[in-house]
Amino acid sequence: MRPAAFLDRDGTVIELVHHLADPALVRLIPGAGAAIAELNAQDIAVVIVTNQSVIGRGKLTEAGLVDIHDEMARQLAAHGAHIDAIYHCPLAPKIKDPRVVEHPDRKPGPGMLLRAADDMDLALDRSVMVGDTISDMLAGRNAGIGATVLVKTGYGARATLPDPAIDQVAEDMAEAAQIIERIAGLTKDSV
Ligand SMILES: [Mg+2]
Repeated sequence: MRPAAFLDRDGTVIELVHHLADPALVRLIPGAGAAIAELNAQDIAVVIVTNQSVIGRGKLTEAGLVDIHDEMARQLAAHGAHIDAIYHCPLAPKIKDPRVVEHPDRKPGPGMLLRAADDMDLALDRSVMVGDTISDMLAGRNAGIGATVLVKTGYGARATLPDPAIDQVAEDMAEAAQIIERIAGLTKDSV
């Protein structure tokens, strides 16, 4: 079983654009490409888990989402990086509280992580959830993940700390990658 880096997309890997629907607006957060390439090189599965209510709201189609992900993949490839799998939840929420599980697949529900673990034979206890919001952290918690890491990019820049759902805080994906590698057991340092 492989450890995984479960990554939120918006505000974690690519710049935050509210209800992103245009591939031309896809921009990697500085350092994210190199960080993901490093995880790829360590044989850590890189899995994006993303709430895409923009689909449920009728502002983007599934095909449009593929175009956005193709553009993200193209930009990552320029850094020698790739994403192993992307899981998205198209549900438009009725509940605003980011701590309430409205549907198992919509973060903070653990559904996407659990499905990926099953599909890809991943070791959840040696895996990390990285994101810029509390719902990302709780999705990791609810999946029984090894650690949750809040990045201070995207909404993470204005997160209220500390929070019991957050195990560690990283400036960005570059710093988060070092934590992921430790949890995965690839270096001697204990977390
Ligand atoms: Mg986000």
